[in-house]
Amino acid sequence: MEELFYKSTRDNSIKVKASQAILKGLSDDGGLFIPERIPVLEKSLKEIAGMTYQETAYEVMSRFFTDFTEEELKNCISRAYDSKFDTDVIAPLVEADGAYYLELFHGQTIAFKDMALSILPHLMITSAKKNNIKNDIVILTATSGDTGKAALAGFADVEGTKIIVFYPKNGVSAIQEKQMVTQKGKNTFVVGIHGNFDDAQTGVKKIFADKEFAAQLDAHGYQFSSANSINIGRLVPQVVYYVYAYATLLREGKVADGESINVVVPTGNFGNILAAYFAKHMGVPIDKLICASNDNKVLFDFFENGVYDRNREFYLTTSPSMDILISSNLERLIYLICGEDSEKNKTFMEQLSKEGIYTISDDMKAQLKDFAGGFATEEETAQRIRDLYEKTGYVLDTHTAVASAVYEKYKENTKDTKKTVIASTASPFKFAKSVMQAIDGKEEQESDFELIERLSKTANVTIPNAIEEIRTAPVLHDHICEKEGMKDIIKEFLGI
Ligand SMILES: *Cc1c(COP(=O)(O)O)cnc(C)c1O
Repeated sequence: MEELFYKSTRDNSIKVKASQAILKGLSDDGGLFIPERIPVLEKSLKEIAGMTYQETAYEVMSRFFTDFTEEELKNCISRAYDSKFDTDVIAPLVEADGAYYLELFHGQTIAFKDMALSILPHLMITSAKKNNIKNDIVILTATSGDTGKAALAGFADVEGTKIIVFYPKNGVSAIQEKQMVTQKGKNTFVVGIHGNFDDAQTGVKKIFADKEFAAQLDAHGYQFSSANSINIGRLVPQVVYYVYAYATLLREGKVADGESINVVVPTGNFGNILAAYFAKHMGVPIDKLICASNDNKVLFDFFENGVYDRNREFYLTTSPSMDILISSNLERLIYLICGEDSEKNKTFMEQLSKEGIYTISDDMKAQLKDFAGGFATEEETAQRIRDLYEKTGYVLDTHTAVASAVYEKYKENTKDTKKTVIASTASPFKFAKSVMQAIDGKEEQESDFELIERLSKTANVTIPNAIEEIRTAPVLHDHICEKEGMKDIIKEFLGI
């Protein structure tokens, strides 16, 4: 198979292998790694319809990670997608009220980030071996809630790695926080920072770009890598489930071969929807990619008028994993639509970092017609949870509800009747309080765990293991720092 190399979105002269891109996470110039072309599927979707999730994963990932041997990649896949998931199909497709919900929350931490973070540690260790790396890999991650726990669960006690997670102290749900601070594993460190997610992410990015610090680490036998959704090792495993979703529709006779569908994705960092865009370019007949935002609707405004403007009020919503004003993965799309011109892309990203705003050209905007932007307010999101529950008994989490509400508005505005897959990104149990408030239409006085019990009865779904586990687990991490103090606390953890 022809080898696929990766370039940096900020420097076209960079050319690395997949394993090197996975190890580095971010390019030295601050850019994101991107394949020099999006590969197409080798087998037909009809053939793929006869495959398991794991086999589908191999079909997709082998096209991107061309420097992995078949044995290496199959080994990573079988270690990732095993009994950690509570269903053999890994990503079930559930029909409710005329849409297909692609449930991506059946892994260890009951949110979609498990889909990629179950495999990333294995991809990374394999990459280190292939590249003769002797240092321990230190995973440094900023999280808006779900990435943190999913990364911790993925990397805990993985030989040759350490993981440090920063989360906004008051910007994640109580359950999300409990999940993180009870994490076991002697290679795991969790820190709450005084600031929002963007502060945490900006801090992490600065540390990654600090060459002096990297040299200091190297002298102590460590090197950083990223488990954030900017890592290509996160993005590619997410392409798999869109291929699998279409294959499932085909297998079940819900679409005819070649019939195009729409996809709706509740969006924060733009990783998940970018994976859907990649799936489209691999050959999955996806028509519209509907990008759903909550009140932090910076992406909706961008798709409307071609202006990306982060200078606005930041809202804490009931869908905290989407409370993001700088969608890191959008940089890859900007790079692609500006003619893969890394200098041009770099200029936009510098404007974003200096002034918080950039405006794309009309030519670039014309290439965004695959996308439709939408947003749902807090009220619309809660209403959608209640409506769908009353109509069908199916209970959505708050993030998926944003997507579902956006889809209802999209249908009404466009009269588009194509079959539609909605990415269902978290279990409602992870956001039990907001979900029960939406269903009952009032403030809840009960504790989180009382609400979880009640949600289990309401939705007629047993409480997932991930929730049962943290009920009684002791708090193992209680570090707090200011956003200026991130580097010092890392040094403290690593003993340097
Ligand atoms: C991370 C997350 C999102 C946003 O996904 P992006 O890839 O960052 O756009 C949506 N919903 C949930 C539950 C998440 O954890």
